[in-house]
Amino acid sequence: MCGIIAAVSSEEEVAPLLLEGLKREEYRGYDSAGVALLDGRGSIAVKKDVGMVRELEARHGVSKLKGQAGIAHTRWATHGGVSRENAHPQVSCDGEVAIVHNGIVENYVALKKALEAKGHVFVSETDSEVIAHLVEEGYEKEGDPVAAALAAANLMRGQYAFVALFSDRPRLLVGARYDAPLVVGLGERTRFLASDVLAFLAETDKAVFLDNKEVVELTPESLRVFNLKGREMSPKTRKETHVAWELGSLSKANYAHYTLKEIHEQPATVQAALAQDPEKVGEAAERITRARSVVLTAAGSSYHAALLMKLRLALEAKMRCEVVLSGEFERELPFIDEGTLLVAMSQSGETADVLEAVKMARRKKVGGVLSMVNAAGSSLVRQSDQSLLLNCGPEVGVAATKSFTAQVMVGNLMIDRVTGRESVGDPRRLGQLVERALESEPLMRELARRYSGRPDFYFIARGGHYPVAQEGALKLKELSYIHAEGMPASELKHGTLALIEEGTPVVVVAPNGPGYDDTISNAQELAARGAEIIGIAQKPHPVFKHTVAIPASNGTVAPVLEVVPLQLLAYFMATERRNDPDHPRNLAKSVTVK
Ligand code: GLU
Repeated sequence: MCGIIAAVSSEEEVAPLLLEGLKREEYRGYDSAGVALLDGRGSIAVKKDVGMVRELEARHGVSKLKGQAGIAHTRWATHGGVSRENAHPQVSCDGEVAIVHNGIVENYVALKKALEAKGHVFVSETDSEVIAHLVEEGYEKEGDPVAAALAAANLMRGQYAFVALFSDRPRLLVGARYDAPLVVGLGERTRFLASDVLAFLAETDKAVFLDNKEVVELTPESLRVFNLKGREMSPKTRKETHVAWELGSLSKANYAHYTLKEIHEQPATVQAALAQDPEKVGEAAERITRARSVVLTAAGSSYHAALLMKLRLALEAKMRCEVVLSGEFERELPFIDEGTLLVAMSQSGETADVLEAVKMARRKKVGGVLSMVNAAGSSLVRQSDQSLLLNCGPEVGVAATKSFTAQVMVGNLMIDRVTGRESVGDPRRLGQLVERALESEPLMRELARRYSGRPDFYFIARGGHYPVAQEGALKLKELSYIHAEGMPASELKHGTLALIEEGTPVVVVAPNGPGYDDTISNAQELAARGAEIIGIAQKPHPVFKHTVAIPASNGTVAPVLEVVPLQLLAYFMATERRNDPDHPRNLAKSVTVK
């Protein structure tokens, strides 16, 4: 995972555009960054460094570099440490080809050996560098950039997207995609290749989504697409898509961080999530009803949303239903057949584990693939029989917030249709309830101040609230780097209780309703051993040291209201501990590697 942005223009200097694009893609990885620009005299200038994009600019003044064609990259290291040499762009021996790469070249060791035997000298530890040398080889042999990219692509195994710049082709970019995203942006004077439309949305909202396993040749005036056999695809198959996301939603507005802004957008985004075409929801519900069994697959926060869906499908619709982490999908394969509906969930629609699960299920002739995705043109959408979009706009903060609550609500809408129940109610009313949940902000800030020095945190809940406990723990881990566990309240006494000490904070999600008394009993057991209980509940209870009041609601909306204070807690824990909540260490938003 990483962000690629490349630009070629008929009259503009592209460095500032590349820099802006990189900043917008930093959510994809941010351990190092770099650019390569082709000036009018036919030489490629490379500037790269460890650290974030703003550091690259501060140290190297990248935005002032000259050139009307260039490539840029923000890295999330997979092969080779975080160093200047390993940062991208990577350059060929003769300096005539520079590339940026997203993903992994699985057979790079063998390719590197073969290239070294031919005299190529490598300067980095990355898998990516082989691409620069392969393209150089191909270019020398074929004299044609597309043929060179094709030759390289056909030798590589793994999942990747790359873009190459050639020193003697001043108005040309060549890119390839193989199980990793690459999108074309068509501006008036300048055209782009990027991992995500966000990277060029400030310049143009016209995009062309490439299909998997395609090579693209882009100039300021033309766009040509080839399959891996080198056959040119008809331009008719390339529909221009008008990207609907508004640019306004890409700025931080008055918020200190995207994460906080996105948490605050939720009164609106939960409503947008419900604004689905009723026919499409009906079609999705029918797919579920027709299936002999439903398998939900996801990773991270989406997995927690999937757990909530499973509970309703099992208890209310009485359907056989499994939730499988996408990275562990293999274990479910014996049970996948024509009678199975696979429901795949991913904010970006590019999560490698989820895409791989879909691929495996297809091989087993799965009955259908229904997906829930935020990014409309993404690979997952293209690989599904039907998709429901989350409509929550771009999520820039690495930790999922508004996309999680949107998933929960789209899931609820769909399951309501399956069961004939109307649990979701008036979207505006839901928006108001989320507003009220946000009123917990001052208290969450205070709790963060009080507990930010604690080494461990626990989150417990029961039944339909247990996934909320898991999600609360995940947010805290991601943003504060504090060890946290989310678990069923009933499970504590089977082991974890041994870890509770004087002052250990435990978040107890205890809304009114079934399970309340039992959860309170578990909280009592914890308090008796010194734990400090933070109750997420409609009313205070003597066992709670702190009560975070959430509005009353029916069961299916409750998880949304309960998770909002937990998102705020994680956010303020991060700021208390001087972490950057938008860019937690070691993480990237869209996990496009297995
Ligand atoms: N595998 C490459 C590297 O480690 C690319 C990683 C990425 O996608 O950022 O440099």
